[in-house]
Amino acid sequence: MKNLILCTYITLVGLISFSSNANDLSSVNIKTHSVAGNVYMLEGAGGNIGVLATPDGLLLVDDQFKPLAEKIEKSMKNIVNKPLKYIINTHLHGDHTGGNSYFGDHAPIFAHTNVRKRLSSKTDHDHSSLPVVTYDDGITIHLSDEIIKLTHYPHGHTDGDTVVYFEKANVIHMGDLFFQGRFPFIDLNNGGSVKGYLKNVLAIIEDYPNDIKIIPGHGELTNMKGLEEFAAMLKFSINLVENAIAKGLTQEQIIKQGIGQKYKSLHWNFITETKWLTTLYTDLK
Ligand SMILES: [Zn+2]
Repeated sequence: MKNLILCTYITLVGLISFSSNANDLSSVNIKTHSVAGNVYMLEGAGGNIGVLATPDGLLLVDDQFKPLAEKIEKSMKNIVNKPLKYIINTHLHGDHTGGNSYFGDHAPIFAHTNVRKRLSSKTDHDHSSLPVVTYDDGITIHLSDEIIKLTHYPHGHTDGDTVVYFEKANVIHMGDLFFQGRFPFIDLNNGGSVKGYLKNVLAIIEDYPNDIKIIPGHGELTNMKGLEEFAAMLKFSINLVENAIAKGLTQEQIIKQGIGQKYKSLHWNFITETKWLTTLYTDLK
């Protein structure tokens, strides 16, 4: 029950924060951005979608909300009118998996073991919305001449995070291990960890080529420089709150003190400065 309430809460918060009208996604338009090679980013409401469009078919990374599924499908088919072959969920959140019950009827969904585990524990899940190919460390998909490497990074945003690497196009989709230009959501109730999140981001900087293009879970298309700036913000935030805790400051005092001038502007409607500092304090205390 607690899980159900939490999931509902996340979906609601997601809808409210990512859409101008919580009850109506009908006004949302899907924008298509070309990233590199055959890789595209679709932007609607919720987490950024990655699309690989090849002469042999389409691959979808994350699928936002169910009411947007037909629009997402149309945008995808506008790039290349070929069948959908594979779907990948970077993690469990509703603004990345909400379209599963629609797309899951057309193609198999791939995700980390914990994504299936957590989605299937929701009492209201559709059978077709569950990932059908799961892995613990990672898996490789081959489509046309592209090699798509899925790698799990443990305990960061959640306990089921996957980074998707399109080797030939030289692009990664980071899911919610990267919120570009804003404070991140770290889901402590679903296996996320503040220090694990930073550790994963630093590992990703080491693990992938320096000239790679990056699709973040939220925010604009970016690159390694953008990810390094994000890592610096995470380090700064953790240091700030750890020092404050060591000095004996309370949660209220840390919030009152604030994040400081340099990163104030990363505040947004879903993760406000207060919510970011609260997450840091809760996990580091
Ligand atoms: Zn998320």
